[in-house]
Amino acid sequence: MSLSTMEKEKIDKQDKSATGEAVIKVKKIIPPQLVRGMRDILPTEWSWWNFLWAQVQEYALSYSFERIETPILEKTNLFTRAIGSTTDIVEKEMYSFVDQSEDHLSLRPEYTAGIARAYIEHGMLSLPQPVKLYSFGQLFRHERPQAGRFRQFWQLNFEIFGEAQATADTQLILLAAALFENLKLPVTIQINSVGCQACRPAYKQALQDYYKTKRSVLCEDCKRRLQRNPLRILDCKQEECHELAKNAPQMVDFLCEICKNHFTRLLEYLDEVELAYQLNPYLVRGLDYYTRTVFEVWGGDEGKTVLAGGGRYDNLVSELGGQPTPSVGFGGGVERIINELKVRQIAVPTAPAPDLFLACLGEASRKRAFKLFEDLRRQGIRVAESFTKEGLKSQLEIANRLGVKFALVLGQKELMDGTIIVRDMENGIQEIVDLKKVVEEVKKRLVARQSNILTVS
Ligand code: ATP
Ligand code: MG
Repeated sequence: MSLSTMEKEKIDKQDKSATGEAVIKVKKIIPPQLVRGMRDILPTEWSWWNFLWAQVQEYALSYSFERIETPILEKTNLFTRAIGSTTDIVEKEMYSFVDQSEDHLSLRPEYTAGIARAYIEHGMLSLPQPVKLYSFGQLFRHERPQAGRFRQFWQLNFEIFGEAQATADTQLILLAAALFENLKLPVTIQINSVGCQACRPAYKQALQDYYKTKRSVLCEDCKRRLQRNPLRILDCKQEECHELAKNAPQMVDFLCEICKNHFTRLLEYLDEVELAYQLNPYLVRGLDYYTRTVFEVWGGDEGKTVLAGGGRYDNLVSELGGQPTPSVGFGGGVERIINELKVRQIAVPTAPAPDLFLACLGEASRKRAFKLFEDLRRQGIRVAESFTKEGLKSQLEIANRLGVKFALVLGQKELMDGTIIVRDMENGIQEIVDLKKVVEEVKKRLVARQSNILTVS
C-alpha cells in the first residue's frame, strides 16, 4: 500500500469521539509474508554461500569450465521438449504463465535445457569441442516444500557439450567427487546406465511385464508411470514400490554393445583413479533426456540425501533442433550442500573485521569525517563508522565489538587543532597525530600489525 493510500484511509476513518475530539482509526495492516516454499538468504548466511561459490569457481578454473548464465525465464515448450512431458517436473512442478505478449513462459526448473538452447543459438558447435560450461543460480519447482526442498532453490551446474567418450563422464564425476571431498562432506557416488534409444525400449517392456502382475501393489503415481514411464517406478520412494523394485529386471542386462562399452570404459577409468562408487541399478533420474550414464552424489546423516545428480544426454541438442552433440552434465543442490556443511560444523571463512573505526564528536567533525573516510578507503583501509551516534563511549563500544585494531577519534578540539586521536584498541593507548598525515600514519601502524589491507591503485 502506498503512503498516500494509507494516509487517505486514515483520513477517511477520521471520526469524532463523544467529547468532539477527532479520533484517527488506523486500519490494521497485515505485513507481507514470504511465498510458501521460498526463503530469504539473510546476511548471516552469506559466508556459506560465498564459500561454496568460491569453491565452484576454483574447480571450474581447474577443470577448464567457463561460466554461462541463461535467463530464468524461457519459453515453456523448451522445457516440455527437453525434459519430457511425462516427467514430474513438467507434469506438475513448473511455474508457467502466459505473458502480456501471449508468450507461454516458464521459470526454469533446471539448467540444462536453457544451456542447450544457448549452445545451439550461439553456434557453439563451431567452437573447439568439447565446450565446458558452468553456472550458479536459481531454479523454480512447485514441489511440496519440506526439509531440503524449496520452490526456489540454487544449483551449481557443470556441463560438457560435444564429447561422446566416457572421458567426459569420468571428468565430471571426478570433479563432483573432488568438490565434495574438499568440502569435507562424506558422500557416495551412485552410478548406473539407462541405455539409449536402441536398447531402452526392450528394457521398458521387460519392466512393464514384471510390474503388470503386481500392479495392485504399486502406489497411485506408479500405476500411472507403468504405462508411460516405467523406469521412474524404480526410484519411487514409497515403501511398497521400493520393495518390488528389488527383484525387477535391471538395465545392465539389456544394454546394447555401444552402451555396454561406454559404461565399462567409464567404470574402468574410475577404477584407474581409485574412485569409490556404488553401482545402483535403481538409479534412473527424473528427466527423460538422459542416455547411458546417470549418477548421483548422496550424503547426509543416513547417506541418502541427494546432494547432486546428473548424467549423459546425447540426444538433447539434436532433439531441440541442433546438430548431434553428445553431452553430459550435473547439478548440485546448493541449499542441501550448505545444510550439510552447517550440520557437520565445517568452518567457512567469514568476512574479516574492518581495520579501523572512525569516531567523531559533534557536527563539525562529522562533516570532516566523510572526507577522511573516503581518503582511508582509497588507501585500501577498511573503515567502520557510526556517524549517527553521538557519544564517544557508544562509538568505542561498537569499535570494540567489531574487533578493529585502531579507532580514530575526531573531536571538536582536535578538529580546531588540525589533529586526530589514534587509539590502539588492544591496549587503549592514545596518540595525537596530524590530521593531514593520519592516513599514512594509520597505514604504517596497520602494516606493522600485519593487517591484510588491500592495495588499491
Ligand atoms: P530429488 O530426487 O531430491 O527430487 P532431483 O532428481 O529432482 O532431486 P535434480 O533435478 O537432479 O534433482 O537436481 C539436482 C540437485 O538439486 C538435487 O540433487 C538436489 O540436491 C537439488 N534439488 C532438486 N530439487 C530441489 C528443491 N526443490 N529444493 C532444493 N534443492 C533441490
Ligand atoms: Mg525432484
